[in-house]
Amino acid sequence: MSRIGWNGQILWVDLSSGEHRTDSLDGETYRQFIGGKGLGAYLLYRHLGANIDPLSADNILILLSGPLQGLPGPSVGRWSVVTKSPLTGIFLDSHCGGATGRDIKKAGYDAICIKGACSEPSILVIDNNEVSIRPASKYWGKGVYATTNLLHEGYGDGFSVYAIGPAGENKVRYATACCEIAHQTGRGGIGAVLGSKKIKAIVVRGTNSVPAHDIDLIRSINRKYIADWKTLDIDFKKYGTRHLVEIANHVGQFPTRNWQNGYFDEFEELSHIKMEQEYGVGNHHSCPHCVMRCTHAFSIPDPNDGSRRVESMIEYETLGLLGGNLGISDPLAVLQLNYICDDLGLDTISAGAVIGFAMEAYERGMLSKSEIGFEIGFGDANAAAKMVSLISSRSDIGDTLAEGVRRAAEMLGKGTGELAVHVKGLEVPAWDPRGRLGQGLLYATGDIGASHLRGWPPTSDPPDRPAVDFVEKLLSSRFEKTLKDSMIICHFTNRVPITMEQMRALLNGATGADYTLSDLETAARRIETLIRLFNIREGISRRDDTLPPRLWEPQTHGPRKGMRSFVSKDDFEESLSRYYQLMGWDSMGIPKEDTLKQLGLASQ
Ligand code: SF4
Repeated sequence: MSRIGWNGQILWVDLSSGEHRTDSLDGETYRQFIGGKGLGAYLLYRHLGANIDPLSADNILILLSGPLQGLPGPSVGRWSVVTKSPLTGIFLDSHCGGATGRDIKKAGYDAICIKGACSEPSILVIDNNEVSIRPASKYWGKGVYATTNLLHEGYGDGFSVYAIGPAGENKVRYATACCEIAHQTGRGGIGAVLGSKKIKAIVVRGTNSVPAHDIDLIRSINRKYIADWKTLDIDFKKYGTRHLVEIANHVGQFPTRNWQNGYFDEFEELSHIKMEQEYGVGNHHSCPHCVMRCTHAFSIPDPNDGSRRVESMIEYETLGLLGGNLGISDPLAVLQLNYICDDLGLDTISAGAVIGFAMEAYERGMLSKSEIGFEIGFGDANAAAKMVSLISSRSDIGDTLAEGVRRAAEMLGKGTGELAVHVKGLEVPAWDPRGRLGQGLLYATGDIGASHLRGWPPTSDPPDRPAVDFVEKLLSSRFEKTLKDSMIICHFTNRVPITMEQMRALLNGATGADYTLSDLETAARRIETLIRLFNIREGISRRDDTLPPRLWEPQTHGPRKGMRSFVSKDDFEESLSRYYQLMGWDSMGIPKEDTLKQLGLASQ
């Protein structure tokens, strides 16, 4: 079956048996769940049983393109991966650039669902409709960069490469998988799921054309988008996300010394201008056909071999977690930590959170030098690099920290839970909710845990007034993100910005469907509600929609001194109840029967 916009074909690969088959879904299912995150949620909910160990062969990893992928739309070159997270034990979606999404679409699939596990290290090769599993022992143990380069030498540039590093092989619960060197599906341990299946890399080639219902409409929206982009005079254009260090710091949101504060006194050392001048090589490695090209490379001495130079592709989140959160202000040290994490295949957000946790535990005497093996105070970049290596190889204390901050605190005890900054097991990204009204609610209710990509407060005001009056706006923002992750439009299109009406036109132009704006809101609500059902099935309830102790403590320094994430616990509880009410969920966060019926989920 072939459709416009959607291919109408799902590829299923069983690594245990080596068999594969294609499946199709009815048109109404595509219409309801769109693609990317939404379609992934549908497939995972339908096909993964409850309480499956995410690192067992039974877990399913789903790679998804979206209805706009392969078309000349604005910033639509990204793609999605959905699975059950080994870090949180709940739903996970993560998104990245690189050519794999385009190749999945051009090979004729909307999704590739991978289940089972290989008996030996392997590579999954998908060459249009040919699927094979090949031995990968010679790549096992190698970093992401070497693996990707070797696979390109072997298969040619016509194939895209999505690979894991040693951290994924060792099932570090926050291991990444990397597409084409520069783009990670970073959060929640997708690399560990691939490692548990003994898949070192997925190599894809797709050569079919991608038709659209109204290509002229898509082109015209893209032309306007590019024209609008060209008129902008914003730092994002020149510096990508790195300019956010200064912005976040000035509103008390820059994570500092394991979130003890949101203001880093030495932030100017990590300034985007300085970094660009000293190490910048121009922006490249960006997502296919994106005019914004925000992925910048920096040339640095190889931390493993100072005689040669390598490229480090760093983003704001990493500057926050491996910089301020570790008390490290040396930009070269942070660039090198970023390079090491990317090559080993570690999420820089979680790695920075876990190491910051260890640094504070050490400084407070909760972890001793003999337990760690060396001294590890804030600001010590060498100790941080040593710890990254131990985590990746799961050696010594690194084996405990490889479990993520929630499990590590449970294993270490001694009150370290007070220092563990996470929501539902996912470490908090580089935006301290004590600096911005409403951010705390978006973190607490995040379907994957704390994520800055599950909605964004439409204000830079501090949380010095009740959030409860603001919940409706937060929810609109969440729905917009859900739609972007399902249509697969980059979140940074908010810089131009792209409107909901343009998004609607793009989706209809691609698929020939007749979505209204109201249909889109319903689709977002449906997708969020189905994910809630998945998470409830895995044991999530109202008590998990909360913030860690650290984020209830007042900041002690900087522009948000004295601020907590909410003005009071009562305000938080009222805001949470209001959120549930607006979603059509009951007071415990369980979707009501009426809501399920309205969304067509009653039979799920
Ligand atoms: S803005 Fe950046 S992340 Fe988004 S599609 Fe473009 S290059 Fe990729």
